[in-house]
Amino acid sequence: MHSRRKFLHTVSLSAASLPFINLKKSFMKDHFDETKTLRVAIMGLGSYGTRVAEAMQSCTRAKLVGVISGTPSKIKDWQSRYNIPGKNCYNYETYDAIKNNPDIDAVYVITPNALHHDAVIRIAKAGKHAICEKPMAINPQQAKEMINACKMANVKLLVGYRMHFEPHTLEVIRMRKAGEMGKILFFQGLSGFVIGDPTQWRLNKELSGGGAMMDIGIYSVNGARYMTGEEPVWITAQETKTDKEKFKDGIDETIQFEMGFPSGAVASCLSTYNMENLDRFFLNGEKDFVEMMPSTGYGPIRAKNSKGEIQQPDVIHQTVQMDEMAAIIFDNKQPVVPIDGEEALKDMTIIEAIYKAAKTGNKIML
Ligand code: NDP
Repeated sequence: MHSRRKFLHTVSLSAASLPFINLKKSFMKDHFDETKTLRVAIMGLGSYGTRVAEAMQSCTRAKLVGVISGTPSKIKDWQSRYNIPGKNCYNYETYDAIKNNPDIDAVYVITPNALHHDAVIRIAKAGKHAICEKPMAINPQQAKEMINACKMANVKLLVGYRMHFEPHTLEVIRMRKAGEMGKILFFQGLSGFVIGDPTQWRLNKELSGGGAMMDIGIYSVNGARYMTGEEPVWITAQETKTDKEKFKDGIDETIQFEMGFPSGAVASCLSTYNMENLDRFFLNGEKDFVEMMPSTGYGPIRAKNSKGEIQQPDVIHQTVQMDEMAAIIFDNKQPVVPIDGEEALKDMTIIEAIYKAAKTGNKIML
């Protein structure tokens, strides 16, 4: 109802649009039909799940209708906070039964990284669309299995790449595609923060699949690809570790990596759990540069070029992402930068190559 009201208000501002309203009644009915709302169950009611749930309260096409959690007290709390009926609540043992629940279209997996693989496969088998947080999985093999499971079940697999819908990011991509920056020569991506509690799952390889690279470095990997518009053909990487107690084997603290692209453009990036406020993209072309800082945080995102600040609206990333996902799932809308499993598999393949390059010291050809 809310979106219908907003739409009617917008079109009623123009007298010329009145005939449009009369003529297009059937279009509007289709467009705003309740069944076209993406009804989502969130799996994993942790810190990011909570942020997504809050953001979804402002969605016009997506709605939080269910939960999957291992913590009964959280389920109770979310039920009263978001008016979630008991029949849409599951735990990790019971959620295959979601198959028989016609009131849920998609499950959004927001659990530790290593748990995404099994969850997405079970969701696909239950015949529901799968939305999965980044990193999609902990290696390319898992990612491929997830893609195949969703294909077999004929459900969509989307990954929570919220920056792919962020207005400043999309404007920079538009400028680059329009040739306003000239030939792209160089990208720099800096992604990092200081991680706290040493006992958290992010520092446990069994659950995280890796360290900073899996968690935050992935923003520079993915950003290098959407900012340059190219896929890397070679990778080099160096790892440094200042705290071997906190960052055990398989948990990278800091990795500096370089990527080469077919056009000759290069990227130089830093992924770390040991430096605060590291959230900056820099794209340099023959005609102009763009600096984004912050570039991938929750916002507001800021971007500038030689002419000054690039003005774009500030949005709640997760609200826009979920509404766009509804359009992708129901209307087959094609986002400017893909968010499907194949897109996420590319990041997984690059991250695997970065780890290999850091370990061996070799230049890895892709
Ligand atoms: P949290 O630890 O805050 O939450 C994870 C939740 O997963 C837990 O609260 C728990 O929920 C559930 N869970 C199930 N099994 C386990 C387990 N063995 N150990 C710990 N938790 C478990 O993590 P985040 O919310 O920060 O991260 C979750 C995912 O979201 C990660 O993949 C991360 O990379 C991604 N993320 C993405 C962001 C983005 O901007 N796109 C930002 C932050 C995170 P319950 O008690 O309900 O079962």
